[in-house]
Amino acid sequence: MVPSRRSWNLGATPSLRGLWRVARARARERELGMARPAPAPASPAARPFPHTGLGRLRTGRGRDTLVGRDEDSSARVAARPGLAQCRARSVEWADSGSPRKLYLTVQVENLKEKLISQSQEVSRLQSELGGTDLEKHRDLLMVENERLRQELQCCEAELQALRAQPAATPCQGCEHVQESTQLRDKVSQLQMEVLENKGMLSELNLEVQQKTDRLAEVELRLKDCLAEKAQEEERLSRRLRNSHETIASLQAQSPPVKYVIKTVEVDSSKTKQALNESQARNQHLQEQVAMQRQVLKEMEQQLESSNQLTTQLRSQISMYETELERAHGKMLEEMQSMEEDKNRAIEEAFARAQVEMKAVHENLAGVRTNLLTLQPALRTLTNDYNGLKRQVRSFPLLLQEALQSVKAEIGQAIEEVNTNNQELLRKYRRELQLRKKCHNELVRLKGNIRVIARVRPITKEDGEGPKAASVVTFDPDDDAVIHLLHKGKPVSFELDKVFSPGASQQDVFQEVQALITSCIDGFNVCIFAYGQTGAGKTYTMEGTRENPGINQRALQLLFSEVQEKAADWEYTITVSVTEIYNEVLRDLLGTEPQEKLEIRLCPDGSGQLYVPGLTEFQVQSVEDINKVFEFGHNNRTTEFTNMNEHSSRSHALLIVTVRGRDCSTGLCTIGKLNLVDLAGSERVGKSGAEGSRLREAQHINKSLSALGDVIAALRSRQGHVPFRNSKLTYLLQDSLNGDSKTLMVVQVSPVEKNSSETLCSLRFAERVRSVELGPGARHTELRSWSSQEHLELEPACQTPQPSARAHSAPASGTSSRPGSIRRKLQSSA
Ligand code: ADP
Ligand code: MG
Repeated sequence: MVPSRRSWNLGATPSLRGLWRVARARARERELGMARPAPAPASPAARPFPHTGLGRLRTGRGRDTLVGRDEDSSARVAARPGLAQCRARSVEWADSGSPRKLYLTVQVENLKEKLISQSQEVSRLQSELGGTDLEKHRDLLMVENERLRQELQCCEAELQALRAQPAATPCQGCEHVQESTQLRDKVSQLQMEVLENKGMLSELNLEVQQKTDRLAEVELRLKDCLAEKAQEEERLSRRLRNSHETIASLQAQSPPVKYVIKTVEVDSSKTKQALNESQARNQHLQEQVAMQRQVLKEMEQQLESSNQLTTQLRSQISMYETELERAHGKMLEEMQSMEEDKNRAIEEAFARAQVEMKAVHENLAGVRTNLLTLQPALRTLTNDYNGLKRQVRSFPLLLQEALQSVKAEIGQAIEEVNTNNQELLRKYRRELQLRKKCHNELVRLKGNIRVIARVRPITKEDGEGPKAASVVTFDPDDDAVIHLLHKGKPVSFELDKVFSPGASQQDVFQEVQALITSCIDGFNVCIFAYGQTGAGKTYTMEGTRENPGINQRALQLLFSEVQEKAADWEYTITVSVTEIYNEVLRDLLGTEPQEKLEIRLCPDGSGQLYVPGLTEFQVQSVEDINKVFEFGHNNRTTEFTNMNEHSSRSHALLIVTVRGRDCSTGLCTIGKLNLVDLAGSERVGKSGAEGSRLREAQHINKSLSALGDVIAALRSRQGHVPFRNSKLTYLLQDSLNGDSKTLMVVQVSPVEKNSSETLCSLRFAERVRSVELGPGARHTELRSWSSQEHLELEPACQTPQPSARAHSAPASGTSSRPGSIRRKLQSSA
């Protein structure tokens, strides 16, 4: 509940605190009073006043009598029977004494009663009006108190005047005399009692005094609003005491007065008690008022906080309202703008629609016109469509017929092509046969075994002086003749071809080219380089990096030929590099070059030979060849002799196998090209070799002799060819016999110091070339070709033929034949 009156003056907070303090002090006093057992009062006046020190009567000091006047007293007396009784008694007593005194006493009594009623009024008002109004009323009451005090003073002054008058003599013959006597007796009795109680009272007074002091101390602490009232009441009680004293002195003077005093005393004590009770009630009410105030204060605080909250809420509400208003305004604006947009859009759309409508109308008109013109076209199209439909229906039949006729035509064409192809193939095969036949005829005319000589240029190694002078000359009209000046005597030899020192590698290769090409056609070919160490065998066969010899050129030629025929033929070219040293065959491309290889007959009964474990590399380019040669070269055993800086003591073989397959006929060919760099043919005695060197030389001579024997046997068409006499001939068996082709390049050193070896080499060459003669000659030749003879040619050299075309062959009648054949070939060419 929020009080309706909110504007109370709360400036009286100290007063409230004072009231609270007073209440506390009184409560403490009450406790003290209750702790002490109250002695049985002999009379109402002797009863102690436990609740308050205010308005206390000190009975031991005298008897006080309160007198006063009050116009309203009768009404109040009627309301309070106890008080009315007291007053009746006072009046009764006053009648026996001075009426004025009695009146005053009654007046005092009335004033006190009025004070009590005022206090009650204060309480009531306090309960009704609350703290602030209570204070106002307190002020009013204080004014009232002041007024009453003044009245009391007046009464006391009158009482004083009465006391100053001489004591009234007892009325003679008064009916009250007896009663007065009785009263005096009673008074004296009472006085006795008073005296008895005095001691007790003095003790009590002492105690009361102590308590009073203590209370006074407490009261001193209470300096708030009730302090003034307390002081006032103290003052009143002091005055009352004075009155008591006055009364006591009057009593001492006159018994009736004493009597009255006694009455007053009794009344006064009663009044005091009533006053105390009133004060206690007042106190209680004040406490309640204080509590109410507390509650009120809390409520006010709550109200204040509620007010604050309300204020805040109001401010928020006002803020929200403002916000709402603004939003509303904004929304209205937006709605307005949207409305405008909408109207604008509608207008635009309408305009656009009108334009489109117009265009559509125009289009429609155009379409209508078109429709009118298109109708005849549609009719034509429909007719066409029907015609086409009919055609389509008949199309499969037409198509089938056409297909059949086309098929028949194609079949006929294919047949014709096949027939043509067959004819072409037959012609091609015939051409191949013819070519081979021609080639064979050419080779036959040239000879299956041909011998050419190549004279190397004089080099630095040959030194200087007469020993290094050239002893070789050539016939400018015949490139098959060579002249040697041996020990001052000229010796001439006729071979198939002689290359002077000026001949290039290409020139030499040109001569052997036909042989190499025949390898592709499935012929086996052997090309040997024969001659003493340093005569240029390796140069001719291998050549240098910048100027390669027959080996590399042959392979290059094979590659190009194979490439040319690639449309019809598939070829594979493989190479092996071997070496025969001391009659031991070794694989120079193998991982174990020192390993001894064997030559075996093929188990298929073809009579072919093969070398188990021999490495074969397939080559496709010059780079492959170079790698293979390098690898083989590293593995080759080379040793130096004192005749030349480096001399090969072994036969080096490059075996090229060309396998071909005719793609159209499936015909397979296999041709072998054996390119042999023979070991030095010099004689052991001249090279000064001994021990192992001698054994090497012996092996070399043996194998070279065996080669000579084989070639001689082949040229003379002997039934038995001694292939097995050396590893070299045995290995090359299938490349030497049959329709195989062999070329021997005899390398010649031109210098004088080598003339003996040159002579031997040329004699060997001539003999090889000339063995092909008739059976008788053959036979003769065969005899002259022993392995030993290779080493024993020297004496023969010493008996040169007289003719420039002298031949070492004994049968002069047969020696001209190869030359005549060559000439025939030249003339035919
Ligand atoms: P061989 O193999 O017969 O022992 P080489 O081929 O090693 O002899 O030749 C010996 C030397 O002669 C080498 O230095 C070589 O270059 C050189 N030689 C050989 N023939 C010719 C030639 N036709 N042109 C130039 N130099 C050659
Ligand atoms: Mg060599």
